[in-house]
Amino acid sequence: MATCVRIGNITITAIRDIGPLAFPASNVFSDMPEDGWDSRPHHLNKAKEFPTNFSVFLVQSADSTMIVDAGGGPGPHEALGGAEGQLMNALATHGVSPEDIDHVFFSHLHFDHIGWALRSNPGAESTPTFPNARYVISTPEWKHWTQPDVLSSSPVEQAIYPLERMGLVDLTDDETPVATGMRAIATPGHTPGHQSLLVESEGEIGFIAGDVLHNTVQFEMPDLCADFDEDKATARVTRRTVLEKLAAERTMTTFGHLLIDSNIGHVIKVEDRYSWQPV
Ligand SMILES: [Zn+2]
Repeated sequence: MATCVRIGNITITAIRDIGPLAFPASNVFSDMPEDGWDSRPHHLNKAKEFPTNFSVFLVQSADSTMIVDAGGGPGPHEALGGAEGQLMNALATHGVSPEDIDHVFFSHLHFDHIGWALRSNPGAESTPTFPNARYVISTPEWKHWTQPDVLSSSPVEQAIYPLERMGLVDLTDDETPVATGMRAIATPGHTPGHQSLLVESEGEIGFIAGDVLHNTVQFEMPDLCADFDEDKATARVTRRTVLEKLAAERTMTTFGHLLIDSNIGHVIKVEDRYSWQPV
C-alpha cells in the first residue's frame, strides 16, 4: 500500500524511524475489557501483541520541506531491543538532506516524537540536527513540558529545551499557519497541547493526525484510550470529533503509530461505526 500521497501540489511521505515493534496489548490498552480482543484479533499481530512503529511524515511543497515529528532518535534504544532510528537514512533515500528541512513540526513532545531534534556532541553543547529548521511546538504543549518539575523528569529537557535558547522554537495555537497551505490544528488529550497538521492544496485536504489514535481498534472503539493518553476524557472527545470530521470530508489522513504501508488512508463511517481504509 501507499507510503506517499499527493495533496494537490504537496507530497506527504511516511517514513519509519523505528519498528516494527510489538508490545503486550494489555500494557498499552489496559482499559480494554478482558475479552475485548477476542472478537477483534485482526487489530493485533499473530502473537496477539499491539504492533506499531515510530513514524515521521515528510511534507514537501514548492516552498517548504517539513517533517512532522522527529522519531525516536539515533539510539541504539535499549528499551526497544537495541533498535536504531532510520530517519536520516530514509531522508537521504528520498534525496533530502538535514539542511533541506525548514520546519520540524511536533505533534507533541513524547520521546518517540522528539528523538532526532538535537544531535548530541560528546563534551560539547548539542546542535540542531536540522540546522536551517524552525521547530514548531504548540503553546500549551510547551507550557506543559517546561514546568520545572515536569521538565526535570522528562526527556524534553535534553532533547528539546536547548532549542529555545538557540532561538529556534516557534509556538503555535489552533489554526496557526505554519507554511503555505499548512496550519496547526489543536487536537488535545493525548498530551495537553497535542496538535495535528492540516494540509491544503488545489482544493484537496490532508490531515497528519499524530497520536489521535494508536491502533485500528480505536476506529470501532473510539472511546478506548491508549494508556499513553494523558487526559483520557479530552482524548476521547478529540478522537470522536476528529474521526467524525475526517469521515464526513473524506480527508486523506495519516496516523503515525499505525504500521507503515497502512498508515495513510481514509476514515470511513458506516451507520455509527468508523473504520480505516488505507490507500
Ligand atoms: Zn507516539
